[in-house]
Amino acid sequence: MLKITDYERFDRENAYDGDDLGVTYREGRTVFKAWSPLATGVYLNLYLDGDGSNMIETVPMERLDKGLWYIELMYHAEDIFYTFSFEFDNRTRQETIDIYSRACGINGQRGYIIDLKKLNPKGWDTTPRPVCQSPCDAVVYECHVRDFSIDPTSGVDIDRRGRFAAFTEEGTRYHNVTTCLDHLKELGVTHVQLLPVFDYASVDESKPYKAQYNWGYDPLNYNCLEGSYSSDAFDPKARIREFKELVMTLHKNGIGVIMDVVYNHTYFTEKSAFHKTFPFYYHRLNSDGKFSNGSGCGNETASEHLMYRRFMINSLKFLATEYKLDGFRFDLMGLHDIETVNIIRDELNKFDPSLLMYGEGWTGGESPLRSDRLAYKWNSYSFGRVGLFNDNIRDAIKGGTFNPYDIGYVSGNRNAGALIRRGLVGSIPHWQLGNDAQDACWAFEPEQAVNYCEAHDNNTLWDKLSICAKHFSREDRVKMDKLAAALFILAQGMPFIHLGQDFLRSKPRKPKEGEPINEVTKVCENSYNAPDSVNAVRWNEKAENFDVFTYYKALIRLRHNNRLFRLRTKDEVGTHMRFLETHDNSFIAFKLEDDETCLVCAFNPYSEQRYLLLPEGRFFTRLNEQGKMNKFPIGGEVVIPPISAMVYKWKKRREQ
Ligand code: CA
Repeated sequence: MLKITDYERFDRENAYDGDDLGVTYREGRTVFKAWSPLATGVYLNLYLDGDGSNMIETVPMERLDKGLWYIELMYHAEDIFYTFSFEFDNRTRQETIDIYSRACGINGQRGYIIDLKKLNPKGWDTTPRPVCQSPCDAVVYECHVRDFSIDPTSGVDIDRRGRFAAFTEEGTRYHNVTTCLDHLKELGVTHVQLLPVFDYASVDESKPYKAQYNWGYDPLNYNCLEGSYSSDAFDPKARIREFKELVMTLHKNGIGVIMDVVYNHTYFTEKSAFHKTFPFYYHRLNSDGKFSNGSGCGNETASEHLMYRRFMINSLKFLATEYKLDGFRFDLMGLHDIETVNIIRDELNKFDPSLLMYGEGWTGGESPLRSDRLAYKWNSYSFGRVGLFNDNIRDAIKGGTFNPYDIGYVSGNRNAGALIRRGLVGSIPHWQLGNDAQDACWAFEPEQAVNYCEAHDNNTLWDKLSICAKHFSREDRVKMDKLAAALFILAQGMPFIHLGQDFLRSKPRKPKEGEPINEVTKVCENSYNAPDSVNAVRWNEKAENFDVFTYYKALIRLRHNNRLFRLRTKDEVGTHMRFLETHDNSFIAFKLEDDETCLVCAFNPYSEQRYLLLPEGRFFTRLNEQGKMNKFPIGGEVVIPPISAMVYKWKKRREQ
C-alpha cells in the first residue's frame, strides 16, 4: 500500500468534512458511508445477529471523491447488524466494525442499526441537565460502575448490582446508612465521573457470571457503550436504554454525569478497527515506521491527523447530545495536540459552555509529536479553558505516588508548605507567594486546577497513609485523612473525590506466595484488573467510618455555601485571598474576604496544637476537627488542634 509521507498534504487533499460517516437515514433509505482513500474496494456486510454465521448479504460500496465509500439500501434498515470489509492493493479483505458505529452487538464485533431516540426513557426530554456555571462550582465524584454497587452491602437489588441500573435505585441502605444513589445525594457532590463506559475490550460480555474485572482503559468502540454493564449484552438496545436511565435519574437528583474518554490509544493495534479501516493513518508512528507508544499501552492515536481529530469531535458531540452528558474527562490528554484540545473546547461551547472538560496533562510514554504541540501540563497556558489534574497538590498533600513510603504535608513532610500554599490559591500566580514554587504555578485561571489527592490510580489515600504513616496511631491517620480532605476541598479550583475516599476506602489484597507480608503488599497499588475483593466498595465501611464521611460532607457544604471558596479568576483570588503570618512554613492560615464575609482557614499538620491570632471581627467556628460548627463567638488567639483544619467565619452584614 502507498505510504503517506506528508500527512498534512494528504489531509488537505483527501479529508472528508461531512458529519454523516457511518449510518444515516434519508427519505426512507439507509445510507452507509466509510472513509478510506487508499482502499481498492469496500464492502458492506449485513447480519442477523451480533456474532455467529448469520450473514444476510455482502454488497460492494461505490467509490466517491475524497476517499469516500458509499452505498444506500432502498429501505429503512433497522434492527440488523453490519460490518465493513476493506480491501487494499486488490488483495485480502479485512472485516471490521464501523468505527462510527453508535450501537453494537455482543463484544463490539458488529455495528447495530437503530434509531437511538427510540430508546429514550419516559421523561427524557423533560428532564433538564443540572446547571453548573463554573468548574469551581462543581464537586466531582469518580465512580467505577461495578465498584459502586457490586458488593452485597450496597443494598442494591441483586439483578442491578455492578450495572448501570444500580444508579437508578433509590432508598438503598446498609443498616441505617445510605448507599449508592442516596449516598451521592447525601454527600452533596455535583457530578459523577464514570470510569470508561464506552465499549471496552477486556471483559468478555458473553460471560456475565464469570469473575471478570477491568477499569476499562482498553477502548474498542468509542461511540458504543460497554455491554457488561447492561442487563443483556446480547441485546444492543439494553445498554443504551439503561445508560440513559442512569443519566436521567442522576439529572433528576441534580447530579451531572461526566464520561471518561480514552481517545489517546486503541486496545488493539494492527487488529484495531481504525487500522483495518485505514492502515497507518489513525496512529502515530516513529521515524522507523513502527507504532509509537506514548500511552504505554502499545500505541497512540494521531489527533493531529485531520480525520482522527474530526472523529474525536464527532464522537464527543454525539455522546454529549445523545446521552445528555455534562462533561468529559480525557485520559492521557497530554497525548492529544493542543490545537485539537482547543477545537474540542470550542465545539463543546457551541453546544453548552457549561460542559466540563479536563484531563490528565501527561502521557504514559514518549510521543514522537513535538512536545510543544502536546497538551502537556507544562503547556497549560495554551489551553487555559481546559482543566488539568493537579498532581502537585496531590503529592504535596500525601507524598509522592511512586514511592509508597514518601510522606506528604499531612504525614510529616515539613518541606511541602510552599506547594500546599500554591495549591490553595488554585495554582495561579499570587502576589504573596513570589516565585518560590514556580513549577507548581501552572493554572491560567483557578478553574483550570482539578484538585485531588486520590483517584482510581495508585494507592487510596487511606492505604497510602497506612504505609507512609504506619508508626502513627489509627486515630492520627484519620486526622491526616481529614486534613488532606480540607486542603483539596477548600482549595481554589475544582475538587475531585474518589468513590469511597470519604469513608477511608481501602483496596486490600492477599500477598502472593513467597511475597513478604507487609503494609505495602497487603494493599493493591494498581487494581485495573483486580477482582471485586480488591475493588468493590464495601458500604459497611461507611457505617464504620461515619465521622470521616460527615467531615467530607461538611467540607462540601461549606464550599457550596461560601462563594469565596469558588473564586473564578486569578484577579478575584488576588483581591480576596490573603495568607496570614504564622512564622512557620508548615502551619498555614489564610483569610478570604469580601464586603459581606470574612473566612479564616488554618491548617496544622503538627502533632501539637498551634495558636493563631484571628483578625479583628466577630468570628464563629464554622468547621472544627469533627466537621461541626459552634454558635459562640470567638476572637483573639485561637487554638488549632493537632493535625487538623479549622474554619472561622464572620458575617459582617449581620452586625449592621
Ligand atoms: Ca465490551
